[in-house]
Amino acid sequence: MSARDYVEKDYYKALGVSKDAPTADIKKAYRKLARELHPDSNNGGEERFKDVSEAWDVLSDDTKRREYDEARSLFGSGAVPRGGPAPGGGFPGGFDLGDLLGGAGGTFSNLFGGGSRSRGAGPKRGDDVEARVTVAFLDALRGATVPLRLTTSGACDSCRGSGAAAGTSPHACTVCGGQGMVSRNQGSFSFAEPCTACRGTGRVIDTPCLTCHGSGATNKERTLTVRIPAGVADGQKVRLAGRGTPGERGGPAGDLLVVVTVPPHPVFGRRGDHLTITVPVTYPEAVLGAQVPVPTPAGPVTLKVPAGTTSGRTFRVRGKGVPGKASSGDLLVTVEVAVPATLSAEARTALEAYAAVAPQDPRAHLAAAGAEPVR
Ligand SMILES: [Zn+2]
Ligand SMILES: [Zn+2]
Repeated sequence: MSARDYVEKDYYKALGVSKDAPTADIKKAYRKLARELHPDSNNGGEERFKDVSEAWDVLSDDTKRREYDEARSLFGSGAVPRGGPAPGGGFPGGFDLGDLLGGAGGTFSNLFGGGSRSRGAGPKRGDDVEARVTVAFLDALRGATVPLRLTTSGACDSCRGSGAAAGTSPHACTVCGGQGMVSRNQGSFSFAEPCTACRGTGRVIDTPCLTCHGSGATNKERTLTVRIPAGVADGQKVRLAGRGTPGERGGPAGDLLVVVTVPPHPVFGRRGDHLTITVPVTYPEAVLGAQVPVPTPAGPVTLKVPAGTTSGRTFRVRGKGVPGKASSGDLLVTVEVAVPATLSAEARTALEAYAAVAPQDPRAHLAAAGAEPVR
């Protein structure tokens, strides 16, 4: 009886008894089933009879039953997953058997020995690759095509990924018979652990390839042209499916994750899908109203500043922000009254004359608030 049998087979279910059934009940259930299913009775129950006999063999023996219960509680009662997530979630609480194997990358399929698949022989998806690009502010709004030089690990050309020198090829490890795992007995369990002779690969290379020193992989430089979609923001990641490291043995390629850096623009700012801009106006323009040209990424527009506009007021120019598939953002134009640092004598005289004819107390409301001292 192997540990694999213990984890995969539900003996209690085979006999139709509960987990805490006393031996007497187990015996009764077994006798009944054995009569029904006996091969001589010719009812096609041969397979079931084998299961029932095996279940009886374990559950009728106190020692074996205890070991069985322990194995089931340790590894869960689901089927042993074969290189994928456990069907029915057999392994509790994120229990990672890879950790148990000392990070050797052991796969579940071979943990319990007798795994017929040679490790690492199947198709392998290529790794995801991360790269960084810098895209100018306006290019990021419109979308851009940028060349990307990538250094990624790929199959060595000299040995075509085998790791063995030209004219030679790796052979199956004699210690583990090419399984990459060896069995170790502990009590009545047969555990499998990575083979130390081949470091779990199942293959031995006598003469390593000179180019890759036996690893089968070399760094390669690739130049890709990637399309950065319109509207990408600073720090955003763009995933380009299938543009990462090529897969191995027919596996799909990994993805390319492009982290986009967008440096700030001297004039435009960005708030989500909206663009921002500050447009200075003169005092007369703010007071009298004006038509003010405002740049947008799609070309200049004319903003109508109404008479009596206060400094700091923001106007919305619809659809002139970040372009989007469904709808574009807006351009938020903040008007700021520009104050001249110097005045000509003539201008000063005119301004003083203006002040005399248009007396104004913009702080009247502050004077009232100041009547009570602030505590
Ligand atoms: Zn080996
Ligand atoms: Zn090589």
